[in-house]
Amino acid sequence: MPFIDLKAQYAALKSSIDARIQRVLDHGQYIMGPEVKELEAQLAAYVGVKHCITVSSGTEALLIALMALDLKPGDEVITTPFTFAATAEVIVLLGGVPVFVDIEPDTCNIDVRLIEAAITPRTRAIMPVSLYGQVCDMDEINAIAARHGGIPVIEDAAQSFGATYFGPQDASGVAPQGELAGLGRPGAGNHGRKSCALSTFGATSFFPSKPLGCYGDGGALFTDDDALAQAAREIRVHGQSQRYTHTRLGVGGRMDTLQCAIVLAKLERFDWEIAQRLRIGERYQELLAGLPLQRLAVRGNRDCVWAQFTLQVEQREAVIQSLNAAGVPTAIHYPRPLHQQPAYAHLHGGQALPQAERAAQRVMSLPMSADLSEAQQDMVVAALKRALA
Ligand SMILES: *Cc1c(COP(=O)(O)O)cnc(C)c1O
Repeated sequence: MPFIDLKAQYAALKSSIDARIQRVLDHGQYIMGPEVKELEAQLAAYVGVKHCITVSSGTEALLIALMALDLKPGDEVITTPFTFAATAEVIVLLGGVPVFVDIEPDTCNIDVRLIEAAITPRTRAIMPVSLYGQVCDMDEINAIAARHGGIPVIEDAAQSFGATYFGPQDASGVAPQGELAGLGRPGAGNHGRKSCALSTFGATSFFPSKPLGCYGDGGALFTDDDALAQAAREIRVHGQSQRYTHTRLGVGGRMDTLQCAIVLAKLERFDWEIAQRLRIGERYQELLAGLPLQRLAVRGNRDCVWAQFTLQVEQREAVIQSLNAAGVPTAIHYPRPLHQQPAYAHLHGGQALPQAERAAQRVMSLPMSADLSEAQQDMVVAALKRALA
């Protein structure tokens, strides 16, 4: 059983993907070909924002966002320590200082209640991560940012592309329950807003294993702000406003035409894949109820597209060994929080971030993809039950 089944996805989409690739080979515009604009238009419409700028990776998307916001050396960016290193890496690359704020123990997303205390006059951006595919508390984060003079907010949505955020919970505060809780809630007529459409910038990744992946590296930035979009477009091509007019410092950050063509083909069944992910994730959650493990909490006003299906256990090493011996692959996202990583620890004051540290000891991820069958899922759950017995 694969951890993420990209072969089944390719088998389902083979004729479209092959045809799309062939079309690029035929026209030969490998850089900034027509598929780039076509994909950007489709993704902007999907997310519901004015501008989509495709870029060479999710990391580059975050870097370009910070460059477009003119992050200067010494500027502080508030973020989470419990994420992939790219989130903090881009801050440090620009001479900025990541300010790590602890996470909520049940969602593993940044704890908004701790953000305000971390704001200083040097705070130049807030960069939350919608981890595992669940949007973080974006309304609350935006409200804090607005209260402090309009601090820009960048959503690291590398894991949450396709996720929906319904905003404030209805007056009852009761989260919809049940198998289809992720499909169209809460309240009639509330279709919610998509991850990447929730803040100054949304940044996502098309790394092959992400919810929407290409066959190499790729990513995208989303914004409603015309000036920031223009800046990002220029930064993507070495700061050029026109050919050989370098108005600002930039990078080589384009997503190539072939990768855009592949994502275009994958969009054909993306709505189905997201619905599958919601269903499979919900089914895992139901099958795991009552076991001696901690399931991820999914807030009632949003869904989770389960870029990773992650849970928390004690005795993680033994559980993983037992699962792997039973033929079930696992992964750990992530084993060490960034404030304890050699490359970043010196940027952190040394204070403990207990929730991130505890999660790093306990999280593990199970096989997850839109093509995971119920039989495969039952096998995973049976192996997990044996491991925990
Ligand atoms: C994957 C990922 C990135 C980086 O994306 P790449 O396309 O691999 O550069 C950044 N942040 C998070 C949270 C990720 O999961």
